[in-house]
Amino acid sequence: MNRAEIIGLFDKYVVPSYARYPHVFVRGKGSRVWDADGTEYLDFGGGIAVNLLGHSAMAEILAKQANILVHASNLYYTEPQGLLAKRLVELVGIEGKCFFCNSGAEANEALFKIARKFGNEHGGRHEILTFENSFHGRTLAGISATGQVKVKHGFEPPVEGFRHVPFNDLDAVAKAITSKTVAILLEAIQGESGVLPATADFLRGLRRLCDEHQLLLMFDEVQCGMGRTGEFLGFRAIAPDVQPDAISWAKGLGGGFPIAAIWARGPYGDVLGPGTHGTTFGGTPLACSVALAVLDTLERDGLMGNARDVGEYFIGKLRALAAQCPTIRDVRGIGLMIGVEVTLEARPAVLKLAEHGLIGVAAGKNVVRFLPPLNITRTDVDEAVEKIGRAFSGSGAS
Ligand SMILES: *Cc1c(COP(=O)(O)O)cnc(C)c1O
Repeated sequence: MNRAEIIGLFDKYVVPSYARYPHVFVRGKGSRVWDADGTEYLDFGGGIAVNLLGHSAMAEILAKQANILVHASNLYYTEPQGLLAKRLVELVGIEGKCFFCNSGAEANEALFKIARKFGNEHGGRHEILTFENSFHGRTLAGISATGQVKVKHGFEPPVEGFRHVPFNDLDAVAKAITSKTVAILLEAIQGESGVLPATADFLRGLRRLCDEHQLLLMFDEVQCGMGRTGEFLGFRAIAPDVQPDAISWAKGLGGGFPIAAIWARGPYGDVLGPGTHGTTFGGTPLACSVALAVLDTLERDGLMGNARDVGEYFIGKLRALAAQCPTIRDVRGIGLMIGVEVTLEARPAVLKLAEHGLIGVAAGKNVVRFLPPLNITRTDVDEAVEKIGRAFSGSGAS
């Protein structure tokens, strides 16, 4: 089918919940992706931080495990799920337990259920504090937790018990805690709203408040986790000493194959007893084998170190470019989670980059996010920066 025919299928048969870009992608390899008309793009969007090792990187393990066992059900034990849980607990480095599901929203849902179950059993508490401009997924609890009006609008009433507090404002958090509060959930680097990192003092302050009030400190690592910041856990790139109570992962965990997980510390890991939570597809042998292969590659190839080094190089080159390019207002980020704030709106900025062969992702009002695979090279970055320079320096860019 040609591009017009494929887009026609969407117009007629697919729920129009996305303002899609005009590309029809047909094939990918490493950091490159190809459109139906044969155009090659340098893919620094990574399918929104999903293609952790680049395109087509998971083919071998997918084929291998597909020939052994794809699905069994959580009514039974399977080795890959046990091994992946062990691996994630070891990467966190604190005793705890994991639960597997299929998306970031679902992983956060599991965190909410742990927090509520624990809170109901300890003082009848159920309130969870989240932050303004946060993003936690599109389920009803997800949009209720998300601190942005636009995702909630039209879906009222929200799930009860979520309150939003200004980000990086510890006094506001202290004032917001009530006798009903049981947990705080945050992205250590807010992704969807424009790559906004928490400060180390804020994270340490949250830990202190959580200790004082017996609250769970829960990190949504769906976007900033999986080594993207140079640390396996994104918040540790900001404050390595801060101890989490619970964590959610998704996006990059399967390198493109859908899998999500949560980890919860010591006692919280046992809160969801038999019959209290479940999922049909979560933690299949196929998904867990793929995630184990992603983690193997991450460690074997030193990709967290690469994310740190190449990310620093990228940010340095972007700042040098910004100094000569008035369209770029700000460059921020950690490792390979980078936001470039521009004078354009985000969507036209992303389209302009695509015209020059580079895929980025819109964030907030006027930020382009770069979330490339963690194995990109300095040569890829040089090419990207050259494209960004051309896209944002021509007439009509600002
Ligand atoms: C993408 C994202 C989610 C939602 O993940 P889905 O897999 O789309 O449900 C939740 N939290 C953060 C921080 C995200 O970036």
